[in-house]
Amino acid sequence: MKVDVAIPRTKFDFLTYFTEENLASGDLIMVPIRNKVKYGIVINKNSQREVAGIKKVQELVEKNFIPDNLLRLYKWMAEYYLASLGEVLRLALPSKILRKYEMVERQVRAPLLAKAPKPNYQQGIAISKISGALQANRYAAFLLYGITGSGKTEVYLRCVEKVLRTDGRALVLVPEISMTPLLFERFEERFHDDVATIHSTLTDKERRRLWYAIKEGKYSVVIGPRSTVFIPIPDLKIIIVDEEHDQSYKEHTRMPHYNARDVAVTRSKLENIVAVLGSATPQIESYHNTEIGKYELLDLKERIDARPLPEIEIIDIRQETKPYISPKMEAQIETTLKNNEQIIIFLNRRGFAPSLICPHCGYTAKCPFCNLPLVYHKSEKKEKSSLSCHICSHQARIRSICPKCGRGTLLYRGAGTQRIEELLNKILREKELTTSKEESLVVRLDRDSVRRKGRLQTILKTFEQGKAKILLGTQLVTKGFDFHDVTLVGIVNADIILHLPDFRSGERTFQVLTQVAGRSGRGKKAGKVLVQTYHPEQYSTIFGQLQDYARFYEQELQVRKELDFPPFTRLILIRLKGEDEENVWGEAKKIYRMLNELGKAEIFGPNRSFYYKIRKDYRVFIIIKVRKDYPHRKLRFLTNYKPTKCSIEIDVDPLDVF
Ligand code: ADP
Ligand code: ZN
Repeated sequence: MKVDVAIPRTKFDFLTYFTEENLASGDLIMVPIRNKVKYGIVINKNSQREVAGIKKVQELVEKNFIPDNLLRLYKWMAEYYLASLGEVLRLALPSKILRKYEMVERQVRAPLLAKAPKPNYQQGIAISKISGALQANRYAAFLLYGITGSGKTEVYLRCVEKVLRTDGRALVLVPEISMTPLLFERFEERFHDDVATIHSTLTDKERRRLWYAIKEGKYSVVIGPRSTVFIPIPDLKIIIVDEEHDQSYKEHTRMPHYNARDVAVTRSKLENIVAVLGSATPQIESYHNTEIGKYELLDLKERIDARPLPEIEIIDIRQETKPYISPKMEAQIETTLKNNEQIIIFLNRRGFAPSLICPHCGYTAKCPFCNLPLVYHKSEKKEKSSLSCHICSHQARIRSICPKCGRGTLLYRGAGTQRIEELLNKILREKELTTSKEESLVVRLDRDSVRRKGRLQTILKTFEQGKAKILLGTQLVTKGFDFHDVTLVGIVNADIILHLPDFRSGERTFQVLTQVAGRSGRGKKAGKVLVQTYHPEQYSTIFGQLQDYARFYEQELQVRKELDFPPFTRLILIRLKGEDEENVWGEAKKIYRMLNELGKAEIFGPNRSFYYKIRKDYRVFIIIKVRKDYPHRKLRFLTNYKPTKCSIEIDVDPLDVF
């Protein structure tokens, strides 16, 4: 008989092989391909395809390796995201297969222990609605909307507990790294070692072993970042997507550019189970889905114990005499520390200073490849300090004299988290607020400070245990942390939350500001938020809305409607990259013409990408805008289209449109 086989890391959907064994779809087999032997998944057991020089399946490794439902999910992804099945499997399956003897033994299932707070009234309603769907064993998707600190996590825990009591299993998706350790602890506290966490510090081998253990049903609760959505889990009953608006659910670099939130909902549909998406700032599309009946809205209106939302004060830095940390913010930091409370300081820019300039001739140090300013990163050892390109990671040496005019002495301009850290330490010393010389009261959390394994956990622990008093950092500090002693949040520069122009800018700003502000006043004491900005009018409007997502949503939806953008339409972004500038534009224009012939779709471009040149590549993009009922699957011919001398990337439902 002949079988169709999908093979990870290939640009096609499947190849056809013959076999004497009785294979079925979902079986894991080894097949020869171009002088190599690779593993593949049978996707069709009665292939009718005629192929010349057909090869033979080499070995059956495991029957029923991927269950039918998941295979259907993978196929859906290939169609929806305009990718090949081979590309989907590359992201969905472990990079190598594990043989039986390599697996780890594990005692299955620890007993449950429920030591939980009693749900309040609104949590009770949410829990009972979700339980209803769980009991009925049917597909249902809920959007659990609740401001930070309203008890969403507690609702997840209760629902998972219900699932476990009926011998089902649960999958919890969380944004990348940031909040995993603390959320994981809360799940572990409740369900002990019945929880498997896929965290970023696992080695490939550990990850592979865990994948297999989960597939064998050795854990009841699985927590992990976006790619966890692909893992086979027996008797799966619920998928929870925490912070469903988070950008890390979108695959940004490889094909297919899927969004794990949307894949999770489709998986729930295919497996006939429950999906719960939670957020304090739902993506506009998700909230819209509750209005058109795709999701059911569950609303947690109040913070636990009716803790008030923090008071927000806007500081006009045009009026301030000191740069970066205004006297007002300085005074508030002092008061807070004297009250023995904690502080979070937010600045969305890492490094010491964002640019190095010559005051004499105006020269700015730029990346020779990307042509964007290089960021100064300071190191304790002076010779280790360097300039770094945040786009391509190019490193350059620091010079003190301007290479262009040879006269000026180069100056750092602006501040990143490293510089603010120095400044805070200086303020603490001047005001005699530090206790010992060795241990700083300030901890910094950004991509540089957590690069080493285990650092993230250490930083969070130091702050949680109160050894550090100020947590300073980039967007990483805005994630769902629950520190009860934080009563002050300081936003150093609200104007650089976004540096990219996009139709989602308004939404993004709203999300980040809400998340940061939500870190303040989560315990018994009331919180405060100080916002420094050059555009006070603009921010007072935004902050006025922070207490009121519904109002923000209405306004934003109106804008989307006028622009005819999602959720009213669907966007597909095509990006071309190549070293030969002229050629890239030529190829892009060819694609534009091809698409234009399709009709019923609006095609925009080709345009320069915001980052027009990264390393050696020039980048241009085309946007396709179609109505929601347009069968965009017919654009799948693009997956096999090969432009000359450049690569093509297709992004369905892109988050970034530039
Ligand atoms: P969210 O996930 O919406 O930010 P959490 O579930 O983390 O909210 O709840 C905020 C805080 O309130 C946590 O410390 C949590 O343990 C506590 N909490 C949640 N629900 C209750 C409840 N019903 N009674 C008492 N405390 C609760
Ligand atoms: Zn660069």
